[in-house]
Amino acid sequence: MSKEYTRAYWEKLGQELKIEGRNFINGAFCDALSGQTFVRIRPMDGKPGATLARSSAADIDLAVKAARDSFESGVWRHKEPLERKKIMLKWVELIRQHAEELAMLETFDVGKPVMASLTVDVRLCADGIQFYAEMIDKMYDEIAPTGPKARALVRKVPLGVIGAITPWNYPMIIDGWKLGPSLAAGNSVVLKPAEQSSLSAIRLAALAHEAGIPAGVLNVVTGYGEETGKPLALHPDVDMIAFTGSTEVGKLIMGYAAQSNLKRVALELGGKSPLIVFDDADLDAAASAAAWGCFYNSGETCHASTRLLVQRSIQDKLVKKIEEVARTITLEHPFEPSAAIGALIEEEHMKKVLSMIADGEKEGARRAFGAERALSETGGYYVSPGVFVDASNDMRIARQEIFGPVMVSIPFDTEEEALKIANDTIYGLAGAVFTTNMDRAHRVSEAIHAGTVWINTYDMSNFATPFGGFKQSGFGRDRSVHAIDKYCDYKTIWQQFN
Ligand code: NAD
Repeated sequence: MSKEYTRAYWEKLGQELKIEGRNFINGAFCDALSGQTFVRIRPMDGKPGATLARSSAADIDLAVKAARDSFESGVWRHKEPLERKKIMLKWVELIRQHAEELAMLETFDVGKPVMASLTVDVRLCADGIQFYAEMIDKMYDEIAPTGPKARALVRKVPLGVIGAITPWNYPMIIDGWKLGPSLAAGNSVVLKPAEQSSLSAIRLAALAHEAGIPAGVLNVVTGYGEETGKPLALHPDVDMIAFTGSTEVGKLIMGYAAQSNLKRVALELGGKSPLIVFDDADLDAAASAAAWGCFYNSGETCHASTRLLVQRSIQDKLVKKIEEVARTITLEHPFEPSAAIGALIEEEHMKKVLSMIADGEKEGARRAFGAERALSETGGYYVSPGVFVDASNDMRIARQEIFGPVMVSIPFDTEEEALKIANDTIYGLAGAVFTTNMDRAHRVSEAIHAGTVWINTYDMSNFATPFGGFKQSGFGRDRSVHAIDKYCDYKTIWQQFN
């Protein structure tokens, strides 16, 4: 990157930015019908930030109607595929042109380093939408085998109105994972971002409209889970909910679908992913992967490597190395260009993380380093990366998501024991194995019950690979060509000849 980004540069941009906090429905900004708003507190310094629409069921009704009308009119789904592709690619271009502004909005909302927002979150959002835009004019339907007296077309058709409900940890990336394939398939969408992170979603929708996505095809309604997300998930005219968030709310979403119209549901939920290190592993590689896998994004990552399963004889040595890597993962104010990690999402969440750390000590795990409140003079919500050692898998810190930069090291003696601990969790999102024995690497990677398993690395992926979980980490996959399937269904058209 040729441009020099300094803290002063971002501070100036932050002051100049015109921030939009209203809903985007049917191609226009609008306040909540009740006129109610709420204020987002910025996690970087605890100061009040944007004012947002506090929407309710009436706003959801409006947005769902706009989405339904646009779907039924065919204004998007019946456009020539090449034309839809061009429009979506134009949207991608606009996202890239507005990358700094989008990065700033993301950082204001969630407190992650603005350089990470720029070089990771905005980039991956644009890349993800591009991936699906490029598929639009390359998807074929099928003709089923029949006798000569009939022709049976098997058409892949969009579902209709998709409700997308997204979390705050990677807002733009996850919005891109939902919007890319659902819009590419020809659906109309109502997106309800997390109340903590609505700004980038509102801007994304406005840019989509500017690119030529017709009014009503992409709507954003902001507000709280119970007040805004719930009526969307209960709405009788929504055909599917694509949800990413906690397992607890994922279960509610399934209930809402059952109570209303049996809408389809795809759930990307929590995780407590094991990273297994055997004594023959390259310990430097394992330490680096474990530290970045757990501490990146301040640990607010669903597939973070939160459970380190380490062969007993090497635990101390490995944890020392992890500490050395952790020291290079600089925790700073998010505008500092050298910041690798920033603030946690909000004060309440920081308190929860600190209370789980206190629980870990009470339960008898030993805090090897870190895991303390940091940068409190900023007024923001920061916790330093840290590791608990000699933990056991039945402790609360090993069973529940902490969603902060806290790793729990659990020693094991045999491969069988490592696998038993790895799979002894309600989750099944991700996992990893570090060993130089390739037979073992493959045996173990097959046996870990998780949607993604890495061998001698962590958190590597691209858009070609599906992402999602088993067990209570949910079902349905984001990313890859397969993600489009969940936003479509097959329709048979049978013609009989005389
Ligand atoms: P959350 O479940 O609290 O909220 C997610 C979304 O659901 C938000 O938009 C929220 O407003 C909405 N919501 C809350 N209550 C609702 C209700 N009753 N009805 C409808 N909507 C409701 O999750 P979070 O705290 O925003 O995000 C963190 C969680 O997300 C973690 O558990 C994390 O593991 C998970 N996550 C999973 C993935 C994945 O791909 N598997 C990715 C990122 C985050």
